[in-house]
This record gives sequence, C-alpha cells and structure tokens, in this order.
Amino acid sequence: MNIRFEKSNQNFLSILRKQVNSYFEENQISTYGNSELFLKSVILFGLLGVNYFVQIFAVTSGSLAWFACYFFQGIIFALIGFNVMHDGSHSSYSSNKVVNRIMAYSLNFLGGISQFWHQKHVINHHTYTNIEGVDDDIDLKPFLRMHDDQLYIPIHKFQAYYAFFLYSLTYVFWIYYRDFKKYFTRKIADHTPMDELTVRDHFVFWITKIVHVSIFIGIPAFFMGPKLAILGYLILCLSCGFTLAIIFQLAHIVEGTSFSTKDENENVLIGTEWSVHQINTTVNFGTESKVLTWLLGGLNFQMVHHLFPKISHVHYPALHKIICETCDEYNVKYVEYKNFWSAVGSHLRHLNQMGKAV
Ligand SMILES: [Zn+2]
Repeated sequence: MNIRFEKSNQNFLSILRKQVNSYFEENQISTYGNSELFLKSVILFGLLGVNYFVQIFAVTSGSLAWFACYFFQGIIFALIGFNVMHDGSHSSYSSNKVVNRIMAYSLNFLGGISQFWHQKHVINHHTYTNIEGVDDDIDLKPFLRMHDDQLYIPIHKFQAYYAFFLYSLTYVFWIYYRDFKKYFTRKIADHTPMDELTVRDHFVFWITKIVHVSIFIGIPAFFMGPKLAILGYLILCLSCGFTLAIIFQLAHIVEGTSFSTKDENENVLIGTEWSVHQINTTVNFGTESKVLTWLLGGLNFQMVHHLFPKISHVHYPALHKIICETCDEYNVKYVEYKNFWSAVGSHLRHLNQMGKAV
C-alpha cells in the first residue's frame, strides 16, 4: 500500500509552529512536563500502590469493597497510560531521555510492550491517522467496522449496541493476544512490519509478561487463592479496557472526522498536507472541563496532541486556544464536541452509519 500526502499546501504547520514557539518564548517555559506532571505521576503511582495493598490485605476478598478496589485499579492503569506512559513514549515528559524511557516503560509494568506501542502509536497512528491497514487503532476487525475500507458483515448492523461490551475486552486482548500476535507475526499492523527484534527485545518481551502476571495475579493468588485473584484481575482488565478504548475512540472515530480510502491500485492519496490531515481526523471534546483534562492527560485536546505530539500535555489548554484562533483565521475547519457525552453520542452514530449494509 502506498500513502501520499498532498504537498501543495505545506505552510499551515509552519504558521502554527511559529505561534506555538512564540508562546513558549514569551512565557519562558519549556515544552516538556513540569512539576504539575511530576506531582500527578506521584499521585497516580501512589494510588496504584495503596490500592494494591488494600485489595489484598485490607478488604475482605470477594466483598463489594474488594470488587470496587479492582475496578478502580483498572481505571488507575488507564490513567497512568494517558498521563505518564503516553508523554514518556512521545519523549515529552522530560528533557531527560532516560526519564522519558522510564515513563514509557511504565507500560511494561502494566503488562504491555513499550517498544511495540511506540511503533504502533507514535509512528503509525500519529502519521497515518484513520487509514485502514496502517492505523491499528481502528482495527477491531471483524467484530467492528469503523472505516469504509473494512469488510462489511451483517452483524455490524448491531455494532452500536455491542461495541461498548467489546471495548471492555480491549485491554485483556491487547496484553494476551495482540502483543503475542505482533511478536509472532513480526507485524505491527496489516501493512507494517515490525522493526527487527534484538536479543534484548526478546528478553524484555518475555520478562514483561512474566513479571506482570506474577505481580498482579501470582502474589494476590498467594493471599486470596487463585480463583479470586484471577476474578479480580479480570475485573481490573474490563474497567481498564473500557476506559482506554472509549477515550481513544472519542478522539477519532466520531462524525465529522475524515477517513481516507484507497483506490483500486491500493493507493491512498490524502488531499491535504500532513497537519491539515491531523486536524481533519481528530476531534477535541470537553476542553472546558478541568477534571477531564487532568484525568485524561490532555487527550480531550486531541487536535493539539496530534499537531504537537512532542509537547507535554500540561501545556495543551494554552496551546488549544492559539491553535483554534489560527485555524479560524486561516479557514481550516476543525471539530470540537462540547462535552464527553456529546462525543459518545457522535461515536455511536458513526458506528451505526458504518454498520449499514454496503
Ligand atoms: Zn499520542
């Protein structure tokens, strides 16, 4: 498959860059994370640690409080992903490379493989957003059809009704199926081969999976028995998967975003420059909510993130204002949903549309 961007209009990104750079120069601040991000990381990892001990030692196994602890643990996993791992993987957490690596590797602690995710997300998803066969984020085939280039099967008629159930399985599938599929097929997406794996990479892969299972199933099983440890872990996986999937879907898979399609020769021609393609394939939602912004690591400012992925999310609210004003000035259309729920409604309508027979 061959993907080409229209080169004739390259200056919008340089205009945006100029505005954004002058914001950092005028305020004399760095583009990386700050003490606010560091504090947030301490809070999230602290919550994870406390919750881990409470669910094993402080509540009665199998009780409602125990259930709530595991459910909450899944959400904390997702929040660490949004706020810490994501910035680390984009090298925006800190100006120090080692710190960024450590933060990116928090994913391995949560059971995923940082290296695979970096290639899938930072390279494929960020460059070829919403393009079938390259952007793995829109690939939930054959269960869900999100893009015109994906094969239609009659069950898709009901996909808006069962999608949320599937979303809750995303995390368990990611950790125990998709990572292994990538590892054994050496493919990041249908059309993307994986970077060559070194001996160290093989070691990291297996150690990650073994250590994660030991910490989150093995140790709890020692204290509460294997059945409850596995049940608790499944609750955690469901709440984590649901939180992760819904936030990623709302940012791209809604009405008003573009989904470039391939021609009969398997070529995808994107009729805009890269930056405009990012604006066209991405939406913001609930940008006025401080709570949402804190929890989601700025992913509700998805347009800012896609245009400036190497800038830490703590700066997104300020940049959002600058970017929206520049888009308005240059007549570049962007989509923004007022709040979380209006974006959820739009996502369901998109699924409904894609579920119609073709
Ligand atoms: Zn990203």
